[in-house]
Amino acid sequence: MANPKIRSSAQNVKKSNATAGRKPAFKSPYSKADLEEIFRRFSVQRPEPKGELEHVNPFTLVVAVALSAQATDVGVNKATRALFAAADTPQKMLDLGEERIRDYIKTIGLYRNKAKNVVALSEKLIRDFGGEVPRTREALMTLPGVGRKTANVVLSMAFGQATLAVDTHIFRIANRLLLAPGKTPDEVEQRLMKVIPDQYLYHAHHWLILHGRYVCKARKPECERCVIADLCRSPEKTWDIPAPLVELPQQVIGTQAAD
Ligand code: SF4
Repeated sequence: MANPKIRSSAQNVKKSNATAGRKPAFKSPYSKADLEEIFRRFSVQRPEPKGELEHVNPFTLVVAVALSAQATDVGVNKATRALFAAADTPQKMLDLGEERIRDYIKTIGLYRNKAKNVVALSEKLIRDFGGEVPRTREALMTLPGVGRKTANVVLSMAFGQATLAVDTHIFRIANRLLLAPGKTPDEVEQRLMKVIPDQYLYHAHHWLILHGRYVCKARKPECERCVIADLCRSPEKTWDIPAPLVELPQQVIGTQAAD
């Protein structure tokens, strides 16, 4: 006769295995109308948001984004202005050589490794892609120093594809506001892609980054300055009257100190 203790623990294992792979369903605290209104307001504030990383073509954008890991956009721009004036194609970058690239970017964190990656990605672009930046995420992610986030930024900024590059600001906002909570950037990305209304998807990542950088800041959200304070469901919210909804001057974006 089967030992009942063994049978019940086996059943338990079976049961927990069955539930382990299943993620709890995500129940958004925001209605469709709330989400529409949140992104409509962001679109009024910043009708044409632009990425802050300076670049002159898709290749220099890939390089700029790869250099921006653990560095500020402002710091990257300072270094890349001269670098891109000297080399704006993979071949010119190779002609410049690793040592001189290193000199141009030595004000950026991890510059030694990054200089190596710039050379390696230039070589790969020439060898495997005819010197052109590929237009799919999978192909972009085969380039040295290019992960999913970099690939998403490039697809969006260089080729106009609606993607969501989840950076530190977007990750924080998605979780803080309960917009698309997740433990990893991939999880947050998938949930955000579902909750953001289609017509706002293209600019959404810029709006969220800028909102996180200038208003919903890491250390302390500035809720009194927030245009979605009435709609926000964050437990960290300290104010619920929305700030006046006005279009911000383009030059304000990116010229303030980030937190
Ligand atoms: S109300 Fe506060 S917590 Fe909510 S989005 Fe605005 S700044 Fe962030």
